[in-house]
Amino acid sequence: MLEIGCHLSCAKGYEAMAKDAEKIHANTFQFFTRNPRGGRAKEIQPEDVEKFKVRAESLGIRRILAHAPYTLNACSAEEKVREFARNTMKDDLERMEHTPGNCYNFHPGSHVSQGAETGIALISDMLNELLTPGQTTTVLLETMAGKGSEVGRSFEELREILDRVSLTEKMGVCLDTCHVYDGGYDIVQDLDGVLTEFDRVIGLSRLKAVHLNDSMYGLGSHKDRHARIGEGKIGAEAMVRIINHPALRGLPFYLETPNELPGYAQEIRFLREAYKE
Ligand code: FE
Ligand code: FE
Ligand code: ZN
Repeated sequence: MLEIGCHLSCAKGYEAMAKDAEKIHANTFQFFTRNPRGGRAKEIQPEDVEKFKVRAESLGIRRILAHAPYTLNACSAEEKVREFARNTMKDDLERMEHTPGNCYNFHPGSHVSQGAETGIALISDMLNELLTPGQTTTVLLETMAGKGSEVGRSFEELREILDRVSLTEKMGVCLDTCHVYDGGYDIVQDLDGVLTEFDRVIGLSRLKAVHLNDSMYGLGSHKDRHARIGEGKIGAEAMVRIINHPALRGLPFYLETPNELPGYAQEIRFLREAYKE
């Protein structure tokens, strides 16, 4: 069975997200750990988490994916911004232990004018400070479109971060289809080649999740503008090849397309019908 869901609002807590997932026939979902622009996270209610676990079990939701606020920049030139990133991720990783064994995805960051090497060093320093042997959460680096000075625009940059993290078994990668296409990886004409390259540089065993988004702009555009499935430059056929690719079997797929719940339900229905068991 295809494991697919979308990004859901976390405003009403965990059980409410499971209810939303049920409405759209999703069997997994992604959520922000807090307001995407940062700030304080809502207190986790243990009763809410317990109700969520019961409901998730009955819906066949085996895992969920948390997403860090996108203002988090581990490689800012400003110490204050890096400190916010450190404190936020530390708090998020503690909160994640309420729902053990899941993944936490974050954007590596933007180095601004310091250069990718400095960025990579700052990001891995922060991870080395925060990761603990006892944590059950796997932290995922997201593949980025390379907008501005984003770190993670190439598989090599992600590999470099992974190489510098001591607790490497706590780390993985989330592949965003819009971002890699914008980054210049041609998943439309040469999906096999891109996945072979991913395996060679990073290793497919590191890949823990896929963000399934079409892209408003073309190959190598570095724009990062998501489109609905079939309404962008990647197209529906390529999306169907992605969910059915043998190298991606068993991975959870998350839609981050510009949609409300009914639109997501439609995309999930389309992809489930196109999936070959
Ligand atoms: Fe993201
Ligand atoms: Fe994404
Ligand atoms: Zn994006």
